[in-house]
Amino acid sequence: MDLGISGKRALVLASSKGLGRACAMSLAREGASVTISARTKGKLEATAEDIRKLTGAKVTTVVADITTEEGRKVTLAACPSPDILVNNAGGPPTGDFRDWDREDWIAAIDANMLSAIFMIKATVDGMISRNFGRIVNITSSAVKAPIEVLGLSNGARCGLTGFCAGLARKTVAHNVTLNAILPGPFDTDRLAATLEGSSIVSGKSLEDTTAERKAENPSGRFGDPAEFGELCAFICSAQAGYITGQNLLIDGGGYPGTL
Ligand code: NAP
Repeated sequence: MDLGISGKRALVLASSKGLGRACAMSLAREGASVTISARTKGKLEATAEDIRKLTGAKVTTVVADITTEEGRKVTLAACPSPDILVNNAGGPPTGDFRDWDREDWIAAIDANMLSAIFMIKATVDGMISRNFGRIVNITSSAVKAPIEVLGLSNGARCGLTGFCAGLARKTVAHNVTLNAILPGPFDTDRLAATLEGSSIVSGKSLEDTTAERKAENPSGRFGDPAEFGELCAFICSAQAGYITGQNLLIDGGGYPGTL
């Protein structure tokens, strides 16, 4: 299936590894030129080279912290008018809400709510004027069902989700869609860190914690980031112009609800 995005400009944030990298890879394979970002140059350049080799796409890199105003400025200078924007940033630490002060909450809100809102603000009107735009926020299954040790994520991401629910209905008439993809457990460095946090809280070994987490998912496994990237590419496709304001779970059936 040709997704109809060849030649489009995609800006994929926080994408030197994990889910962001997989989104950039899938979009590049569909013929989009991609700009990828992260704070660490070495890994980012290695990923850019991998994407170029595997897809032949034009890949631009930008070293920037997307949670800061300066970082967003630098990022937008590298890709001022994206047709596709994939918002992403590192997730907050695990812990107990009794230990979090205002600074911890502000850091989570900056990373997992405000950075995406400011990137949308900077790019959505250009998309509207060109009559094409696809915005995808990488959030979390925690938006549908809270994860006990990730209270910062549960809270900050719901703020982003609420804001986008309103905006998504304002842009779709201009062929600009705004959706979120909600990952369940995907096999990335972030998941490894979360599992380590859980194992410390429970006192169980990391091996047992990992095995239990796999077993409790109906699929019996963690997701492959490539599976996530493929869904992202479809949501960014020309064919997906009638999908907006949605929160699409990709979690191996982990969410137990009927709807
Ligand atoms: P990951 O494998 O740790 O990758 C995170 C990527 O983001 C890296 O490229 C990292 O590079 C970059 N990054 C982190 N903070 C950044 C910042 N402030 N500015 C720019 N780049 C930044 O994480 P992941 O598993 O792909 O997770 C992506 C998002 O999905 C996170 O918000 C995570 O909480 C969420 N999520 C993941 C899962 C899962 O199971 N994997 C489940 C639910 C939600 P640098 O460190 O070099 O900047």
